Amino acid sequence: MDALTKLISEAPNNEIIKKSIITTYQKLQEHDSILCSISGGSDSDIIMDLCQKIPGAEKIDYAFFDTGLEFKATKEHLLYLEKKYGITIHRAKAIKPIPICCKEFGQPFLSKQVSEWISRLQRHNFKWEDKSLEELEAEYPNCRAALRWWCDDFDDTSNGISSYNISYNQYLKEFLMKYPPDFLISNKCCHYAKKKVASDYKRHGKFDMNMYGVRKAEGGARKGAYKNCFSTKKGKADEYRPIFWYRSEDKKEYEDYYDVVHSRCYSEYCLKRTGCAGCPYARNFEEELEAMRVFEPALYKAVNNVFGKSYEYTRKYRKFVEEQKKKDKRKKK
Ligand code: SF4
Repeated sequence: MDALTKLISEAPNNEIIKKSIITTYQKLQEHDSILCSISGGSDSDIIMDLCQKIPGAEKIDYAFFDTGLEFKATKEHLLYLEKKYGITIHRAKAIKPIPICCKEFGQPFLSKQVSEWISRLQRHNFKWEDKSLEELEAEYPNCRAALRWWCDDFDDTSNGISSYNISYNQYLKEFLMKYPPDFLISNKCCHYAKKKVASDYKRHGKFDMNMYGVRKAEGGARKGAYKNCFSTKKGKADEYRPIFWYRSEDKKEYEDYYDVVHSRCYSEYCLKRTGCAGCPYARNFEEELEAMRVFEPALYKAVNNVFGKSYEYTRKYRKFVEEQKKKDKRKKK
């Protein structure tokens, strides 16, 4: 019996899982130098387990991109994975760790896109005023895209308000006018602590395939960027997302069947996902903060130093939204 037939015969009775084994097997045979980003999260645990079962896994370079604000539990988990599979996970340090980026450029607030627009307006000493686009363009030259966001000037999509318009975030304009930010906002930490580190690593490694833990069933912007589990771009490394088609139930079945152990961020802290510790973009950053306060007090202190202004401002915005909604409801009655 060849290796693939054996793997399939021993796999759980789940077509999505079996298909992922077959496709991963093929992709590992077809490529010579493969990069697999490991985050220490539950999706990357499954990918590593899947790959390590397959002949050709020795061609994989596992890399962890250390942003400078990581859970101790994640770092411990990386050591556990190395021991379990007898592999090495390369730790790639941020070009500028998150704390330095936030000090230098500003703190992330609400989302990557919102932070970008606000940061551009801040660079132009914008006064958060409610004027027409024409008037604002005359007052703040060379800032057109951010002013279009502020004035809701982008065309809406068939699904509703364009995410390029400020009204995509309810009452954000009213909030910014009433409480202009008194600290610098920026999305630069994503660039220097994550994106650029990964792209430099890829360039130096000369990989012919990159693997990521993106799932279609997962919410957020990332899954919307891909249509399939595999994509090619001329002159660039192929991209493969081994568990792209896994739904939550397939993940659970895989974990139970193959006995995949996740980091303490899940088992003890009860977090639903991990990533940069305490990122203010996370809807549930309060839950994360509470977990840190209890289990990793030093990290709790650190993230509050780094993102404190953004947390305060986000809380104020969320409260403002609730109050506005109530006011609107009362008006309708
Ligand atoms: S995910 Fe959040 S904390 Fe992490 S680099 Fe991006 S903005 Fe910064």
